[in-house]
This record gives sequence, structure tokens and C-alpha cells, in this order.
Amino acid sequence: MAIYQSIFKCRLCGELFNGGVASSELNALETTTDACFGIKSEVFNAPQIKEVHLCVDGSYGVADFQGRKKINSPK
Ligand SMILES: [Zn+2]
Repeated sequence: MAIYQSIFKCRLCGELFNGGVASSELNALETTTDACFGIKSEVFNAPQIKEVHLCVDGSYGVADFQGRKKINSPK
């Protein structure tokens, strides 16, 4: 079994950080495709193509959705 972790990267500070998780491959594919093409998803916790990032130094950066990383969990 696997989960699909959404990953963002801040343009300002360069930090990679996690967003929401999808527990099915179909949900991961659909929400990633929606974000990619700017379609507002009805799915809870669906990633947006951009998010605001509060950087470590207190700055506000713009973070881009990088994709969903498949993470295999032990059975
Ligand atoms: Zn940042």
C-alpha cells in the first residue's frame, strides 16, 4: 500500500515542504492533474498550484506545487 504526499517548494527560501496526502492512486492523479491545469478541485485537501509560505526568517514566499511523491508503507 502507498500514500501520495504533495510536495511544495518555496521560491524565496527554497524550502521543500509537505502538503496534504492522498491515499489512493486515482485521487493523487486527479488532484495533481486538476492543480496542473488550474481546475478547482472539490476533493478535500487537494493541492493548489501555488501556496503562501511563511519562511523561517519571517518572510512570506510563494511556493509551487511540485507533485505527489509516492511513499510505500510497510504492510
Ligand atoms: Zn519560504
